[in-house]
Amino acid sequence: MSRTLIFTVFRHNPRDPADVPRTQSYRLDETPGMTLFIALTRIREEQDPSLNYDFVCRAGVCGSCAMVINGRPGLACRTLTASLPAEIRLFPLPGFELIGDLSVNTGKWMRAMSERLRAWLHLEAEPNVDVLEAPMEPEMAEAVYELDRCIECGCCVAGCGTAQMRPDFVGAVGMNKIARFRLDPRDVRSDADFYEVVGDDSGVFGCMSLLGCHDVCPKQLPLQTQIAYLRRSMARQGLW
Ligand code: SF4
Repeated sequence: MSRTLIFTVFRHNPRDPADVPRTQSYRLDETPGMTLFIALTRIREEQDPSLNYDFVCRAGVCGSCAMVINGRPGLACRTLTASLPAEIRLFPLPGFELIGDLSVNTGKWMRAMSERLRAWLHLEAEPNVDVLEAPMEPEMAEAVYELDRCIECGCCVAGCGTAQMRPDFVGAVGMNKIARFRLDPRDVRSDADFYEVVGDDSGVFGCMSLLGCHDVCPKQLPLQTQIAYLRRSMARQGLW
């Protein structure tokens, strides 16, 4: 028998000084295979066109639809309503600038973090196609690809106690990026260069090993393993 779902959704427009943060309830009949993305789209189309939430790909690739679902960060497009109780509470990801309702500016946060960590491939002074396309051992390519699967959804930041207390914390997403470029044989940076950007309380030493990031990452990235590895190799090389 189909259920009637009751959604309790956070509503707030931070650009309107008169607008007070609140929750709003919606009822919706559940249909087979319904995801939270489908449910929100139906609510917006049939009940409330003013409801804000983000989506692009609807396939767990863009990371836009991350939100707090019954207290846990996750992707709306990859969450079946059948996996949840009939009462569903939806809140925006904490730790990011609120755009409105369930929509947050993860892009601004990710850009600032990436610029601070210089999270891009650093090649020789005059890179050429030979350097960029140099063959890589399949095992190495697979290890780099594994960490490259991050979709920058922000769930790990929302699920992290340190990130909620320290605005300068680069989060598991930032440390995963450093681990990814450190692995890449084309990147010319030394270990000291990498550790310079994550070797303090805003990086590996701010992590309290609560495993929140690891638990909520929708791509099941080995986040705690990477953070622990960075920390251990710093100690081993006397960089800490
Ligand atoms: S590490 Fe996982 S949870 Fe964090 S931004 Fe990347 S995909 Fe999302």
